[in-house]
Amino acid sequence: MSSKGYPPGFTVPAEYAWMDGEFVHWTQARVHVSSLAFTQGASIFEGVRAYWNNEEEQLYILKLDEHLDRLFNSMKMLRLTIPFSKQDLAKAVVELLFKNEFREDAYLRVNSYFGVGDRQSVDPAQVYMGACITAVPSPQPPIIESGIHCCISSWERISDRVQPPRIKAAANYFTVRLSTIQARVDGYDEALLLNHEGRVSEAPNACLFIVRNGVVITPLITNNILESITRATLLNLFQDELDTEATEREIDRTELYLADEIFLCGTGREITPVVSVDRLPVGDGRVGSLTRRIQSVYFDAVRGKNEKYKRWLLPVYGR
Ligand code: PMP
Repeated sequence: MSSKGYPPGFTVPAEYAWMDGEFVHWTQARVHVSSLAFTQGASIFEGVRAYWNNEEEQLYILKLDEHLDRLFNSMKMLRLTIPFSKQDLAKAVVELLFKNEFREDAYLRVNSYFGVGDRQSVDPAQVYMGACITAVPSPQPPIIESGIHCCISSWERISDRVQPPRIKAAANYFTVRLSTIQARVDGYDEALLLNHEGRVSEAPNACLFIVRNGVVITPLITNNILESITRATLLNLFQDELDTEATEREIDRTELYLADEIFLCGTGREITPVVSVDRLPVGDGRVGSLTRRIQSVYFDAVRGKNEKYKRWLLPVYGR
């Protein structure tokens, strides 16, 4: 493998990737430097998780249909048309995990992108439009247990009038980069972002819930958030499993300072507790009890340990 484009000591995380209809060696999953994906950030993606169930020796893909629906919604808004259906991509996702022989938790990225061609065109005769998928092992990080320390970023969350958060475009992650770097340089784990009206929006890669006086609250889908699949899942689980109604409403910055519990949620982030904001402890500074309970219900469901929610899961092996 040529070392160009890789940091020193880099090891390939998986044997195969899927690129425009073919399985290729991970290092061969390439797009050209003149592609619009590279020069303009003209690509969209989904982050998807697969969970290993040890007792069943089964790998379960979580809510793949919902992710592919959102991918195709993002593509619709960008007028990006690829020569693959949702069914084609679903089959490729399953086969990629199978081919890589994963027997552990994995994280996938399903991307569609503008390749080489006319910069202004959305006509497949003028500009290449394709899709690619990668899958890598993804063990659970210790912060799921311990929680993280957050700051409120001075960077503003993007908005529907400028760069719609509802489109899951790679270009949207520029503010993510700025806010995360600022947070890390200042000694925090993660940033929380306010929107153009000063309301709490979300974290760079995840949505957010707070608990105040026993009430579970999450920002509205019109507060410049990504329409998160995990957020929708948790709204259901709070109701059905914890008998707790979660409220969708706007949240002020100072409510973060007074919250009893805060956690982030997302496919990648899973359920990550927040134990301080701007160095003020959340509650007593320890992970709260509702957070622990929703984590337990969620992880059982996604790992295939609760029969009721097996309908969310697509098995990879023995099909
Ligand atoms: N917001 C942003 C900006 C994200 O990148 C993510 C992760 N996809 C989320 C929220 C959570 O979305 P989901 O639960 O669908 O993964």
